[in-house]
Amino acid sequence: MDSLKKYRSKRDFTVTAEPEGSKESNGSPSKDLLYVIQKHHASQLHYDFRLEWRGVLLSWAVPKGPSVDPAVKRLAARVEDHPVEYGGFEGLIPEGEYGGGTVMLWDRGTWTPEVPDVDAALKKGELKFTLHGKKLKGSWVLVRTKGYGSSKKESWLLIKHRDRYASSEDVLEKKPLSVLSNRSFEEIAASR
Ligand code: MN
Repeated sequence: MDSLKKYRSKRDFTVTAEPEGSKESNGSPSKDLLYVIQKHHASQLHYDFRLEWRGVLLSWAVPKGPSVDPAVKRLAARVEDHPVEYGGFEGLIPEGEYGGGTVMLWDRGTWTPEVPDVDAALKKGELKFTLHGKKLKGSWVLVRTKGYGSSKKESWLLIKHRDRYASSEDVLEKKPLSVLSNRSFEEIAASR
């Protein structure tokens, strides 16, 4: 079972600086689970939301990025699993390569499931969790809006739960800098 097959098949690792991912990663259940959001300007700007689970990063592409306002539901298209090492990646993907463009590490931290069985929650299409990021914190939910098999990509919604971290502010605008390098998106894009 190699859930990174699709990830690797899309990339030429002799050209891109993105990590290939170790072949034998099968997760270390005792350690904290990584959470990251990468701002990614490829053909279109989006935010990649990633949660470590079973040795890989479960991944969703969120076109409008996360909102800390519980009244706002953000579309999140499930995409292929990524290697855990991808959670440290920031920089440029060469033009012509898959996802070619600029990647910023917009937020990073850990996450805690709010459900007893994550696999069952993913299958059911409703995963509740707490984020412990530098920018995003508190309780969230991912809800699947389409069943399996109906379309190529699963469609989910990313929604903030009401708690003390909920707010109507635009967190993308208020906290635009990289949590890795403190650079702006434009500075990273210009670093070629
Ligand atoms: Mn992306």
